[in-house]
Amino acid sequence: MQTDAVSTIAQLPSSELIDPFGRPVTYLRVSVTDRCDFRCVYCMSEHMTFLPKRDLLSLEELDRLCSAFVAKGVAKLRITGGEPLVRKNIMWLFKALSRHLDSGQLEELTLTTNGSQLPRYANDLKACGVERINISLDTLKPDLFKAITRWGDFNTVMDGVEAAEKAGIRLKFNAVALKGVNEDEFEEMVRFAHGRGADLTLIETMPLGDIDGDRTDQYLPLSIVRARLMDRFTLEDIDYKTGGPARYVRVKETGGRIGFITPMTHNFCESCNRVRLTCTGTLYMCLGRDDAADLRAPLRANVDDAALYDAIDAAIAKKPKGHDFIIERGRNKPAVARHMSVTGG
Ligand code: SAM
Ligand code: SF4
Repeated sequence: MQTDAVSTIAQLPSSELIDPFGRPVTYLRVSVTDRCDFRCVYCMSEHMTFLPKRDLLSLEELDRLCSAFVAKGVAKLRITGGEPLVRKNIMWLFKALSRHLDSGQLEELTLTTNGSQLPRYANDLKACGVERINISLDTLKPDLFKAITRWGDFNTVMDGVEAAEKAGIRLKFNAVALKGVNEDEFEEMVRFAHGRGADLTLIETMPLGDIDGDRTDQYLPLSIVRARLMDRFTLEDIDYKTGGPARYVRVKETGGRIGFITPMTHNFCESCNRVRLTCTGTLYMCLGRDDAADLRAPLRANVDDAALYDAIDAAIAKKPKGHDFIIERGRNKPAVARHMSVTGG
């Protein structure tokens, strides 16, 4: 009897951070820079204005903030951006955060990257305890890769994929579904990812931040992609959950998984366990809303963390129930003014 009680308690998330809807916040995504060495068409305009460098938190401050969340029960940290690996001396932060893996307080330290810097950093990441990373890859055609990313080089990213595999890091690929751009490639991308033992997650474009074009031109509902994939593969619904918004299927023919992230066609908010921290210390409680809390002021005002803990608690108490994205033709403003590269994808 007592054993049952103990095991039930052990299964409950241990986070102190419970939002008003009873959801434990166990996952923090941290954007360490809004800058990037690519200019993906759906993400930012080619002549993007970045934050002045002086507004950025230092790496030491980011470490202190992340550590405060870990102390409060966050078990998973994802470093993102912008392109996180272009931030100067970024390995210092990974090394510093890896102490929470060693202590057992943190279950996972991970990364979302465009892959361009992986040839240089894959081994260092692995040495810091990074076991799994997400690589964004929207096409397997080098010319189209250049057209989508504007500044990226496909072969460098492929070298990065190889470097990560060699380092023993598990990969997941993320692809944004873009109407008339990469929509004929998903079968090949499934084979590419699954052939490497990696999952593939497909993402709908979200109306975040101004870009050079109109997002209605890019928006491709994943319901259509899924239906087309079903002509090629046998998709089996599975109950695989990563704590994230993706709904997974298993592909019978390859044995691999496909995740579908459909903020536009399906509301994934009910199981949301995450909050997002920007590189200026602003905490967003929801990707799709403007509710935010400034953690930089309490961080800088005090050498001890008491005020910071209070500010984190107050922010979590304001986490909204969900978002309501829409992409409408003729609506020339994005649903949320911040780019994904600011909030962290
Ligand atoms: N630079 C890194 C990368 O590309 O993986 C990390 C940051 S990026 C903002 C994170 C993810 O957000 C990428 O997979 C990217 O494709 C996705 N993303 C960016 N803007 C988006 C948008 N408006 N809608 C949907 N996904 C977007
Ligand atoms: Fe850079 Fe990632 Fe945005 Fe592409 S999606 S521009 S790689 S931040």
